[in-house]
Amino acid sequence: MRVADLRADLHTHTVWSDGELTIEQIARQSRRLGRQIIAITDHSCLMGVRDNTFRQRLKAQREEINAVQERIGDSIYLLHGAEVDILADGTLEFPDDVLAELDIVVASLHTELDQPGALMTERLLRAMHNPHVDIIAHPSGRILPYFKGAELDWELVFETARKTGVALEIDSNPDHLDLDEEHARLAAQYGVLFSVDSDTHRAHHLRCLRLGVRIARRAELRPDDVINTWSLERLLVWLRSRGA
Ligand SMILES: [Zn+2]
Ligand SMILES: [Zn+2]
Repeated sequence: MRVADLRADLHTHTVWSDGELTIEQIARQSRRLGRQIIAITDHSCLMGVRDNTFRQRLKAQREEINAVQERIGDSIYLLHGAEVDILADGTLEFPDDVLAELDIVVASLHTELDQPGALMTERLLRAMHNPHVDIIAHPSGRILPYFKGAELDWELVFETARKTGVALEIDSNPDHLDLDEEHARLAAQYGVLFSVDSDTHRAHHLRCLRLGVRIARRAELRPDDVINTWSLERLLVWLRSRGA
C-alpha cells in the first residue's frame, strides 16, 4: 500500500475546534496532495456542548462546507462529520439524532483515560455498538510520549469491530500512531476494516498520512480492507448503509 492509494482522509480538524486551517484551506491543500475525499471532523466537546449550541453550530458548519464545496468544484468531495467523545459510561457526547444527520462519525476516547482496562474496553464496545459510529479513532487513546494507551481487551475489541462493521483507525498524527503495527496486524486476522487518517490539526499533519501508511504496510494490510482506498461511490454506499 502506498500513500497514493489513499483517496480519502476521514479525520481532520479545522478552526471550528482546535485546528489551525479553515475548511477551505484543508480542502485545497488536501486536493493538492492528491486526496479526493475529505471528512471535516471537529471535536464534539469544542462544538458547543457546554452551552448547548451544538445543533446551531453544526448547522452553520454544514452551510460553510456546502459553500466551500460549491467554490472548489467536484475535484474533491467534502463530508461533514465530527470526532465525538466517548464519555465515561460509553455513551457519546452528541445525541443520536445529531449523529444521524452527520455524513460520518468518528468516535474516540479522550477523557478519563485512567480507568481500568476492563472499563475502557466496555466503553469502547458500547460506542462500537452505536449504529451511527463509523470509525473508532486512535483506539487505545495513546498520546505520545505521555500515555502509552489503555490496556484494552484487544481480542474483544477486534471481534466487536468485525461484528459491528466499525472501522478501526490507524491515526497518522505523530502524537498518536495508533493502532500501532502489532495491533493492526492482529486486527487484520479478525477481518476488520481500517481507516488511515491524518487527524490533522496543523497544516503539516496533512502530509503525515505516510506515517500511517507505513504502519499499514508493516502490518501487511490489504488495501481493500482500508476504507480510504475505496472509490467515492463505494465509500458513500458504506456510510449510508450504516447508522440508518
Ligand atoms: Zn482524537
Ligand atoms: Zn482528532
